Amino acid sequence: MDTLINHCRHNIPPEVENVALLEGLDPGKAAEHIITGRLVIPHNTRRKHKVIGIGDICQVKVNVNIGTSNQLCDPALELQKAEAALINGADSLMDLSTGGDLLGMRKELLRLDTVIGTVPVYEAVRRAGNAADLEADLLFRVIREHCNQGVDFLTLHCGVNTDVFQSLHEDPRTMGVVSRGGAFHVAMMASQGIENPLWSEFDYLLEILGEYDVVASLGDGMRPGCQDDAERLAKSVEYLNLGRLARRALDAGVQRMIEGPGHIPLEQIGYNVRMIKELTGDAPLYLLGPLVTDIAPGYDHLVGAIGGSVACMYGANFLCMVSPSEHLALPRVEDIIEGTRASVIAAHIGDLVQGSRKAKMQELLMGEMRHNLDWEAQFATALFPEVARVIHDRDPGDGTCSMCGDLCAVKMIRDIFP
Ligand code: SF4
Repeated sequence: MDTLINHCRHNIPPEVENVALLEGLDPGKAAEHIITGRLVIPHNTRRKHKVIGIGDICQVKVNVNIGTSNQLCDPALELQKAEAALINGADSLMDLSTGGDLLGMRKELLRLDTVIGTVPVYEAVRRAGNAADLEADLLFRVIREHCNQGVDFLTLHCGVNTDVFQSLHEDPRTMGVVSRGGAFHVAMMASQGIENPLWSEFDYLLEILGEYDVVASLGDGMRPGCQDDAERLAKSVEYLNLGRLARRALDAGVQRMIEGPGHIPLEQIGYNVRMIKELTGDAPLYLLGPLVTDIAPGYDHLVGAIGGSVACMYGANFLCMVSPSEHLALPRVEDIIEGTRASVIAAHIGDLVQGSRKAKMQELLMGEMRHNLDWEAQFATALFPEVARVIHDRDPGDGTCSMCGDLCAVKMIRDIFP
């Protein structure tokens, strides 16, 4: 297959050169990580856009989900959200639309100069009428259409097989299945008494993805929906499946990454991340959250940022934004802005804990600028300069800030130790 993995076996493709330049890597090392599946570069061959690298040797990346629902279907609003996400630091967008003109929405997003992901089963279920009636042919047809239209990575719930299905009976969970895609596949399997076609016909799926060099984002259909469900069997059975599939995809020359759990206690993040990494041969890991408490609706962006930072400490590579409206409503523009910023902060903390020199230099610079009481330089160093400026400038002072005013400790000590 004409894929990046296979190209890297013979030369260094331009996408790899670009990512190496952006990340300050040796191109040969980047190519080696592509071949061994520890780095992915989502770049559908049918579309040109800014490339990003996702993996252990790259900085942590942030994805933002947008998309219509049938209850709130306003494509213009979704485009505003997409722009707000990119302005505030998102590295990629996922279109999770389920309402209105799905193709029209996707085409608008594919015009943007960024990496785009989708979840084809959403559209397949819309076309089928309901998940119970979804047939394999339609699902594969929609997957091919998304690839042909230029989507760079697809969430595919291939690991939700009959073993996983059985584990839901053997070890029931409070929240059952909360992944929308996971629930669709379970409904399809239950009503038709069949194996998940993405599991049983995985080789055919790889052929489609390989044709367009689309990254398989092997979805966490069994992500726990509450803290207690993190200890139930289903997610671990799915991890094993994803480990097998990750190896098969790599053998076929198809890039893949792994999606990880949603709601899990803080102290369980480390071993979950390490387990997924070990089972999948250190495949890039894409996480929603993790959400480390269930009782802070309205502030789930902060909960997700805490979980995401800790996950990075153990090797997570790609964080999916959680917005303040998670569990409550479709996000508005202001929710996307807050959620994206929280995820960008978590990703930066992730870079620090993973030893990024660039991230450490930013920290060092901010310390020096704070010592110098150089406000302009502090704003320039901040992740969100205008936010910092507006807060500082609301109380004009004489070089310090209104927190301590004339009792500024920094100024006092600087006078003693210039
Ligand atoms: S006034 Fe207080 S908070 Fe403000 S810079 Fe000085 S020490 Fe820091």
